[in-house]
Amino acid sequence: MDFTFPEDVRHFRSELRNFLDKAWPPDMRRFAMNDSVVRDLDSDPATSFKRALGRAGYLGIGLPQEYGGRPGGTLHRFVLQSELAAAGAPLNATAIGIVAPMLVRYGQESLTRQLVPGITRGELDFALGYTESNAGSDLASLQTQARLDGDRYVISGEKVFSTAAHIADYYWVAARTEKTDKKHQGISLFVVPLDAPGISISPLYTMSGIRTNVVHIDNVEVPVDHRVGDEGEGWRIIGEALDGERFAVMMVAPVIRAYQAVLEYCRCATRAGKRLLDDHAVASELVVLHSAIVAAYLNSVGIAWGTDRGESGSHDASALKVEVTELRLALSTFALDVLGTHGQLTPEDKAAPAFGELERMYRHAVITLFTGGANAVQRDLIARHGLGLGRQM
Ligand SMILES: Cc1cc2nc3c(=O)[nH]c(=O)nc-3n(C[C@H](O)[C@H](O)[C@H](O)COP(=O)(O)OP(=O)(O)OC[C@H]3O[C@@H](n4cnc5c(N)ncnc54)[C@H](O)[C@@H]3O)c2cc1C
Repeated sequence: MDFTFPEDVRHFRSELRNFLDKAWPPDMRRFAMNDSVVRDLDSDPATSFKRALGRAGYLGIGLPQEYGGRPGGTLHRFVLQSELAAAGAPLNATAIGIVAPMLVRYGQESLTRQLVPGITRGELDFALGYTESNAGSDLASLQTQARLDGDRYVISGEKVFSTAAHIADYYWVAARTEKTDKKHQGISLFVVPLDAPGISISPLYTMSGIRTNVVHIDNVEVPVDHRVGDEGEGWRIIGEALDGERFAVMMVAPVIRAYQAVLEYCRCATRAGKRLLDDHAVASELVVLHSAIVAAYLNSVGIAWGTDRGESGSHDASALKVEVTELRLALSTFALDVLGTHGQLTPEDKAAPAFGELERMYRHAVITLFTGGANAVQRDLIARHGLGLGRQM
């Protein structure tokens, strides 16, 4: 079995590492260790870094050249996100990982031409507007309405948990264009400027400190070409886009980075005159976690590779999402155990071990169990679509 990346991917990785050494040097690397996707993204360093990524061509992997894209597939995207996470560098992957590929595939040409070049240059960001108070796991129950009125759609409703809506430029909104007996039908997708009249945004903080938002959409008008895909095609596009989102959530690189921090702590810290690493119980738990991390890494690479060859299914993205998020929770639970009372110090406290990142990771790990689709629901998808079993719940 050959675990080596193909030549072009290895070349891409070494070119990227050189780029990161300059654009996100080691003294910046503490920034956003675990939850780089959503923390501090509106800061100046994060914005200039994103533009630098865009100028260097890293935001258009697999997209057509005419929109600022460059050749590459899922394996390249996996390497990009892994290297960014390993370097603690920030990136909101929503626009490049979810929106741009869907716009290229399903968007009306005028809208795609208007938006995708800005995404690949790192100038435009998106927030996702799927979830509502009564439509989370059961997303098809969403009530936001879009009504065609001449050459415009008029959209009204309320979304919750919209990450980054307060700093993004556009909103990727699922809305009902038709009432049907089957609730999965009649849903369509729209791109809505977040500064449009009728949009109001208020904060909704999560236990890890990450801000999400409630977005009120009050008779917001968008031109017809802001509909992505045909009317009623939204459910299928959301499904495809969610695979991309799970791929981002499941990144194993931040877990590897956190594991190294825990290992380093166990190497240096002593308890009752003994190094933590020399404690049998601590060492054996580290070995178990190490094996699980190696398995998750290999699984990630395998699925990325399989996706490029058309061999991975959406149940594989679900399986990896469950594997990595539960591993993240197991690692951070262990980390807080070995850190003892100091483990409760938050990143704001100078005395916090590992800059408080392990404490923050613990709080964030719980959340990743249901963002991008609850793990219980993922298990059901794996059972039905991966293993051919009946519905589990
Ligand atoms: C930090 C954060 C960021 C988010 N970002 C976004 C975003 O940017 N855009 C967006 O649209 N949404 C976002 N979400 C929403 C997220 O996708 C939902 O939280 C998720 O889909 C679960 O929906 P819910 O919270 O309504 O939980 P519910 O659907 O109420 O589910 C609660 C729990 O019930 C169980 N459950 C529910 N249904 C089933 C079932 N069929 N089978 C088995 N068990 C089940 C699961 O254990 C689940 O965790 C975010 C959420 C958080 C916390």
